[in-house]
Amino acid sequence: MPHLPPVSRFLSNNGVRIYRIGCRVFETLSARVYLLLGAGPATLVDTGSGLEACNRDILAGLEAVRHEFGEPISVADVRRILVSHGHIDHVGGLPRFCREGRVEVLMHALDCSVVTAPEEHLAVAKARLRVFLNHAGEEPAHREALITTSFALRRPIEAMAVTTRLNDGDELDGMRILHTPGHSPGQVCVAVGNVLLSADHILARTVPQQWPESITPYHGLGHYLDSLDKIQGIPGLELTLPAHEQIIQDVYARIHTIRAAHLRRLDRLLATLRRADRPLSLSEITAQLYPDVTGIRAALAITDVGARVEYLHQRGRLQVVNLDEIQAQDQPVYRYAVV
Ligand SMILES: [Zn+2]
Ligand SMILES: [Zn+2]
Repeated sequence: MPHLPPVSRFLSNNGVRIYRIGCRVFETLSARVYLLLGAGPATLVDTGSGLEACNRDILAGLEAVRHEFGEPISVADVRRILVSHGHIDHVGGLPRFCREGRVEVLMHALDCSVVTAPEEHLAVAKARLRVFLNHAGEEPAHREALITTSFALRRPIEAMAVTTRLNDGDELDGMRILHTPGHSPGQVCVAVGNVLLSADHILARTVPQQWPESITPYHGLGHYLDSLDKIQGIPGLELTLPAHEQIIQDVYARIHTIRAAHLRRLDRLLATLRRADRPLSLSEITAQLYPDVTGIRAALAITDVGARVEYLHQRGRLQVVNLDEIQAQDQPVYRYAVV
């Protein structure tokens, strides 16, 4: 069971009280949702996974805000929910927390379909993943196992309306919306004065998982690195509160470290291809970089490496060399070499 930190309170320099509430989103993963008071109506940023234990943790956190911090608030007073991005560990609790009273739901337009058309969103994502894995060179049995594993934790939520589709630069009651695509197409960070809610875009320990934008537009390492630059260019961020792991004191230093980690991974990938005695498929590259992974780690590895291959190929650093096969076949395997 993941460890949950106690509810804690932060004050932004524009007068917003921000409460950090830990919740167990899955058996082995915890997240943090945030309650914002003093930024218009009481606003919850993210909703956990929707699993019963997770809902209970969030409700207990709201109770703690009332009893330990003296805020006259209960779950029925939450009038606005801002979903940082459409991953299940952030959006899954939305139906539960919209149940009480009239609640506005705010999300970036590019992730809205997770909420407004959940069945369709998953079906399309699955179909695109299958095409991606065909081009990667996965055999049908292993391909289907990877798809099943990838979607094991992703269930369609109850379809709902999104009240407000957020855009980059929107200002709402002291919150500034920053569209930071990459980890998710509609990922947003929220700047509240000198405090940044960084969601899954910037985490304290983990380099956030990437997916290629050939599966879903606005995923992809290029967008992700541009989104790091966007946050880097915002002066005066003195505290960063991510949706997982610890708080970040110096977001600019953390961005530097994450970017350096990506550059090292790109170098490793190029070195792997240079060492090979023939062009390699994405499956072969992934097997060389991550030889021992299985289960969900294998599914995450091939999409993460796929994002790197895509990034390098888009920028002319890799070349697809088996052009005859590509032109003759329906679902050809792409074989890459360093330019
Ligand atoms: Zn995420
Ligand atoms: Zn997450």
